[in-house]
Amino acid sequence: MPDRFHETITLSGHAMPGAWAHLLPEDAQWLRLPRERFAACGTCPPVELGDFSSSCRCCGYLPQMPNFALGLALQSPSRDAVREVIAAGHVLPFGLLPSPRLFADAIATNAAGRFGEEPELACPFKHPETHQCGVYAYRNSICSTFFCSHDHGEHGEEVWDLLQGLAGTAESAVAQWVMGEQGLPAREVCEAMDALAPKVAGWVEAEGGWPSEALDALWGEWRGREEAFFIACAQSVIAERDGLFDIASRWIQRDAPGYDQALKDALPPASQAVFPQIADGSAERVPLDELWYLLQLAERSLWQIPFGEEVRLVQGARIEGEPSSDRLPILVGGARRTLQFTGEEGEVTLYPTPAECAALALFEQPQLLGEALLNLPAITALDEPREFLAEFLRRGALVAV
Ligand code: SF4
Repeated sequence: MPDRFHETITLSGHAMPGAWAHLLPEDAQWLRLPRERFAACGTCPPVELGDFSSSCRCCGYLPQMPNFALGLALQSPSRDAVREVIAAGHVLPFGLLPSPRLFADAIATNAAGRFGEEPELACPFKHPETHQCGVYAYRNSICSTFFCSHDHGEHGEEVWDLLQGLAGTAESAVAQWVMGEQGLPAREVCEAMDALAPKVAGWVEAEGGWPSEALDALWGEWRGREEAFFIACAQSVIAERDGLFDIASRWIQRDAPGYDQALKDALPPASQAVFPQIADGSAERVPLDELWYLLQLAERSLWQIPFGEEVRLVQGARIEGEPSSDRLPILVGGARRTLQFTGEEGEVTLYPTPAECAALALFEQPQLLGEALLNLPAITALDEPREFLAEFLRRGALVAV
């Protein structure tokens, strides 16, 4: 396959990192993902609603970019931004990894429910004025799959979570594998991290990036040549591009549980409560093949339409005019009406477009799901009739009679 690493690829209309063309199974290109119409990054609804600060938006963290992605970005116009992060001491052989101090600040912010509100934690790759991502084609799996709103609610979010798990597991496995290709095996670096555990409490108090003592111990002979290391990682990954999913599937993930536990112990109780689970061997990891299978199942079920059944608008559903306090529908333009009803888990508010309101009006009477329905003018007027049906069925607005 030709090298796609330096361009974005399109999955269901979403621009994804080019590395995914090589890291994920070939059939991932056919995944049908939700459009996520309300995650309108151009206007950033959470900023307009006062949930995030404009200087952060949803980029209020230091993304853990894998080593080979940094190496790719270093060979692109983004190289200066990556060089600055390297100079600030936030890189280890795995890739971008926040120093103990930066991690402590970030997790304290999350524990206080203030993610996206601390300007000093804004991602260094986010442009302060245009808000564009400086490493867009190389961004990590979390950045690529995060949406602040989900057209299909929690079911759509589950599909994105599984895709994030698949891509994240693959990128982390390949990052560890490629370290060995440069003579710096992940197992040895993890052991060196564990050996540094007694020092971590002191580092949490210190300002800035990783202390020199840690960088000396973890980078070995590559210390001072980090840029060359990342570029070498990118070259090895490009050379093995046709076998990356197999490499990632076979890879046994290395961890540094001693270091992680020491870091957790050094944090205040509120931060400890939201500390990620430590990989100490007590919990089994989901294999990559199984993640791929689960993702395909969830994606298929997302779009299932029970053809042959009669459905109607849920009892008590109300389509109302312009809302006064909720700004989200105003931001997305056109969708100024709300559809409100009581779902299985409480009150639900959706924001149908005028065309969707006209289609929903059909369902005030029971409608048989089939070709005749799909040919009605109110349905053919929709951009994506089948997606409309799947979405409103999934959200509980349309129910079986
Ligand atoms: S890498 Fe890009 S998308 Fe990810 S947090 Fe930074 S600016 Fe945002």
